[in-house]
Amino acid sequence: MKRAIAIAAMFALGGCSMLGPSALSGICTAHGFAIDIDFAAAGRHDCVIAPDGSVVVSVDHEPALVEGINPSPWFAFRVTSETARNLVTTLDYTDYTHRYRPFVSTDGARWTVLPDSAVQLNEGKTRARISFDIKPGVTWVAGQPLSPARDNLDWTRRALMGAGFTEVEYGRSLEGRPLIGFVGGGGIDAVVAITRQHPPETTGQEAFRGFVERLVGRSDTKALTFRGRHRIILAPMPNPDGVDGGHWRLNAGGMDLNRDWGGFTQPETRALSGWIREQAGSRRVVSMMDFHSTDRTVIYAPPLDAPSPTIGFLPALKETFDRVLPAPPEWTYSHNPDGGTSKGWALEVLKAPGITVELWDHISPQEARALGAAAADALIEHFAK
Ligand SMILES: [Zn+2]
Repeated sequence: MKRAIAIAAMFALGGCSMLGPSALSGICTAHGFAIDIDFAAAGRHDCVIAPDGSVVVSVDHEPALVEGINPSPWFAFRVTSETARNLVTTLDYTDYTHRYRPFVSTDGARWTVLPDSAVQLNEGKTRARISFDIKPGVTWVAGQPLSPARDNLDWTRRALMGAGFTEVEYGRSLEGRPLIGFVGGGGIDAVVAITRQHPPETTGQEAFRGFVERLVGRSDTKALTFRGRHRIILAPMPNPDGVDGGHWRLNAGGMDLNRDWGGFTQPETRALSGWIREQAGSRRVVSMMDFHSTDRTVIYAPPLDAPSPTIGFLPALKETFDRVLPAPPEWTYSHNPDGGTSKGWALEVLKAPGITVELWDHISPQEARALGAAAADALIEHFAK
């Protein structure tokens, strides 16, 4: 595995192909190429190479404590090839079905989605046959542009630079990774935003980024008033084990963290809920948004008569979305105190409207960020009075 990394690094630096077949290694190797998963957020794969040079990659999920894992077959692997070739790869989901469009990249940073014509599904959608051209060197293939744990931490750090935020290690994950939060702003009220409880849900992360950019980036009087009045509590990476372990849904303890805000069986949810409560203190929490991804853009909110002093923010948020977004989200209103979601916990414990913001898996980054920015604008306009 280490050898594959060295080869990948050499190609990334522009080294020419002088490798013998024996220099390639990974989870399968033949025909002058290898597939490896030795990088953060790689999928949980095995593979075989057929005599004709085509590949079958199994797409497996993490061990789950509770039967019936949410179907989000995440794949991410790297091909190192000695020559240019067309590679036909079948993603084998066994009894799960295809969800994510394949993206490819030669540098791990710039990604191109494969056209639908390059993806053929079997009748049951349990196998996806993808065909793409690769150059000599390395090619990444993944279900979304790859975003390991450090990516959103680094992004958030940069976005908040000079904005008066403090970075906090509020705990450690089950596997010992630091759990990092950011807190900033002033005062007498508070607002909370989190994302990436579910590892592959990176379009939700884009909306979180749009939200943060707008919330701290606006410099008009209302925005200054809002930031002076509200402590801003941000958790950009509450499940780093799941993200870097290539999990579909869970943390390293086999739990869906967004079903654990009640039982608090996992260190990630215990630490995050405790930190939010500590930071909120006796402040009124005006809203807690949790950004996710699913098969459509939809807002899950508590009922409009829910017992929260700031429940009136919900119609203001909806009005903003409907006014500024070309394709505003649909809304669903409900509250389940025993569901174990951050949304339910926010209402029960913080008396705040907990809002699960779901972005369509295939929404563009620009549209996702626009939705997040609109949410920040709605907060500022509603509460900076
Ligand atoms: Zn989710």
